[in-house]
Amino acid sequence: MKRFDLVLKGGQVIDPAQRLNARRDVGIRDGRIALVAPAIKAEAAREAVDVQGQVVTPGLIDLHTHVLEHFTDYGLNADRVGVHSGVPTVVDMGSAGHLTFPGFKKFVAESAKTRVLCFLSINAYGGINGSARLDIQHSPATVEPELTAATIKRHPDLIRGVKTHAEIGGASRWGLAVLKQAVEVAEAAGVPLYVHTGQLMPPVPGSRLHPDDVLPKALPLLRPGDVIAHPFSMMPGGILRSDGKVHPAVKDAVRAGVRIDVAHGLHFSFTAARRALDQGVRPFIVSTDGHGETPPYQGSIDNSLATTMSKLLALGFTLPEVVAMATANPASVLGLAGTLGTLKPGAPADVSVLRVLEGRWTFRDQKGETLKGSRKLVPTLVVRGGELVGINPALFPNPDLVLGRV
Ligand SMILES: [Zn+2]
Repeated sequence: MKRFDLVLKGGQVIDPAQRLNARRDVGIRDGRIALVAPAIKAEAAREAVDVQGQVVTPGLIDLHTHVLEHFTDYGLNADRVGVHSGVPTVVDMGSAGHLTFPGFKKFVAESAKTRVLCFLSINAYGGINGSARLDIQHSPATVEPELTAATIKRHPDLIRGVKTHAEIGGASRWGLAVLKQAVEVAEAAGVPLYVHTGQLMPPVPGSRLHPDDVLPKALPLLRPGDVIAHPFSMMPGGILRSDGKVHPAVKDAVRAGVRIDVAHGLHFSFTAARRALDQGVRPFIVSTDGHGETPPYQGSIDNSLATTMSKLLALGFTLPEVVAMATANPASVLGLAGTLGTLKPGAPADVSVLRVLEGRWTFRDQKGETLKGSRKLVPTLVVRGGELVGINPALFPNPDLVLGRV
């Protein structure tokens, strides 16, 4: 009888939760991390995989995705965004509300190989359509606080928070009514709140509210541990005011414990990123906010989690910082620090293996701007619950690098 089911040998293990950045072997048994050590003999395992020259991280977590496939017009396939892109855990960010949650649970969370968690929309139907009738989908008329809180409490294993928006379209119609209810529901259910920033829909005609007025009113309502999204968006009403300055209210919120998630999505801009970073904004999390419209899933701009992480490397962050933003940090937002996002012995055996390709890379944002970088991360394999899963080579531009084809 072998001591391990699987050993990943010779990789550079970066596990920020354990402050580990060293060459280590990773031993897995019964779906859990059993041992991380300088050397584990290949003979001690039923299967040994040589990952020398590659980076081994805790299973990456994409905190902001949209994977309510078929129920929404922008939902991606969970495994395509998840394990087949090198990401063992994805979180659907508000596609489902309490009325559509049963479909999410049965047809997405329970059928995917990827671990799929969610933040429940404060609106009862969730976001069924990505572009039409947003004023109805996100209206206070579709908020049912008690039923939403009850659903969260009934499914603590799957629902880890509440999703809402703080943006000019909603604020011009209803003030901050929906956000206030979302805070109350999150408080009642004992979970964090995740808040979209930047214009989602145009303001109601005749509104005198300026987009820059939204966040100074909204952010003081948030609590330590809540998250704001899209810091590098060029949309009006984001964390950058129309004069290019970061709202003082954003700095106050961060000082009070509010966290920032890159949430790449449709409005990520390198210009906005540089402006925000130059003014001291630091993201806590990197996620993709992948939609049906956002490549590599369709089209030509790659904003997979690995490439979004590469963009942060090109913007000046270190590899351990970026790995923390996709492992330990989102795990803490999920209330699962020490369980997910770490290779601590006893944790579920979710592991990502990435190659760091040195070269001259050109990254693109949604505005068509480019950014040069010297490193590109490409996932080569994942372990999900102890099981080796291959990367879908069609999703990445370096198909020869994926497991089994090197
Ligand atoms: Zn989103």
